[in-house]
Amino acid sequence: MTKQEIAAGLREMGLKTGDKVLMHSSLSSLGQVEGGPDAVIDAFLEVLGAGGTLLVPVFGALGILTETVKKRPGAVTSSAPVGTLAALGKDAETLLRDHWKAATAHGEGTPFTRLAEMGGYVCLLGVDQDRNTSLHGIEALLELPYLGEAVETFTAPEGETVTRTYKYYPGPHRNFIGLDRFFREAGVMKTARIGNAQVRLMKAKEMFRVGLELGKKDPAFALCDNPACAACVKQRAAIFADRMARESFRLAASSRLAGRYVPEMIENLHAAGIRYIELDYLQGRPCAQLPPEKLASAVAELSSEDIEISALSVNACPDEPEKLVELLKAAGIGRVILPVHSGKAAQLFVDAGVAVDLRNAACTAKTAADEVRALEGKVKACLNPALLVTAGDRAFRSFLKQRFAGIIGQADICDALWDGSLRRLAQGNGEIKELISILRCRNFSGWFCLGGGVPCPGTLAEMTADFTNLLDNM
Ligand SMILES: [Zn+2]
Repeated sequence: MTKQEIAAGLREMGLKTGDKVLMHSSLSSLGQVEGGPDAVIDAFLEVLGAGGTLLVPVFGALGILTETVKKRPGAVTSSAPVGTLAALGKDAETLLRDHWKAATAHGEGTPFTRLAEMGGYVCLLGVDQDRNTSLHGIEALLELPYLGEAVETFTAPEGETVTRTYKYYPGPHRNFIGLDRFFREAGVMKTARIGNAQVRLMKAKEMFRVGLELGKKDPAFALCDNPACAACVKQRAAIFADRMARESFRLAASSRLAGRYVPEMIENLHAAGIRYIELDYLQGRPCAQLPPEKLASAVAELSSEDIEISALSVNACPDEPEKLVELLKAAGIGRVILPVHSGKAAQLFVDAGVAVDLRNAACTAKTAADEVRALEGKVKACLNPALLVTAGDRAFRSFLKQRFAGIIGQADICDALWDGSLRRLAQGNGEIKELISILRCRNFSGWFCLGGGVPCPGTLAEMTADFTNLLDNM
């Protein structure tokens, strides 16, 4: 390869005099270049002319091309400690100015977004989208909930030592490679071969437009979907938790659905992005029958991992409600879910300062609603669609007919067929989608519990995916 061949290749792709280009590169990808790295840089400078500007990244594994640019007379390096760039040419100062003062490393007020505003290009020379740092700018502009912060102490241009926090800073893994086809399909990327190198050229503004559209539709657009990628599992969980935080209801999962042992529950809840657990079973035993110290230690273990208890759930009327009250007090649990027909027991819990929800079990919706109303506002209703279907009732119709809106404290997120066999969400007769929708319409501020009250089929991850799918389709 010669300088002339590289310059001709770049012109062929549409680069011309006066253009501004951010280049990510691998020199070795070109093959043998006569004149080495200097020839490559000279090829770019020749095409861009005196009115053009060449930018290169100054972070990560520094390439020889970057070093070559930095050594050239007139090269400018941006003042930011993260996302640092070096530039040569007419607009070098304008593009890099005050990078360190921006709120993020790659978003508004950084060379990455300025390049787009000024009509510049991103060129990937023998490297793929994985190296395209501007894509972090798209994530930052979208303020994606999985992004973190970078706290940096550095010397500012005026010489003083500054500590700054850069918001919306990217995490460990991305699937930027997977975005390539979207740029190609949207027609905003040209590809060509120069020497041995596959070269991609995009107008930065168009690239940002396509990326922002993708991200607005799906905040996980830049993440991989490999379930073995711990980084992306965690980042997806952050997206789900952020989404749930915007809902009026609070989302819990039953401990039986979350796992058998506490560490397993913690891992699964973290992976799902769920902060609350309803304790029903632990290691196959009903939580209400656990020794007090065992329950208290499980609660402490969960809370040390930022998982709170939404309630303790009991599926049969307790024989010794006084003992259960003591158990709850010892573990610091302030809410219990009892089956209807718990009569006097419910009153005992209320008197002890424990909040009570009565769950329909082996009864119709009318019976459940009547019993809650008989306790005159002291308890709430926990509506379980799967158990209601088993009793021959419909969740949504009963919700309206028995005026559950005024008494409901929780809706269990589960489904079943008329014969009582449990099904995944919206694959049974429980009218679960209608129930969720009407409660959201009313800004329901109580609990939704994934797998509450019944042994649901599938895993917590599957249940969460089903639930997300229902919300996405409302
Ligand atoms: Zn990943």
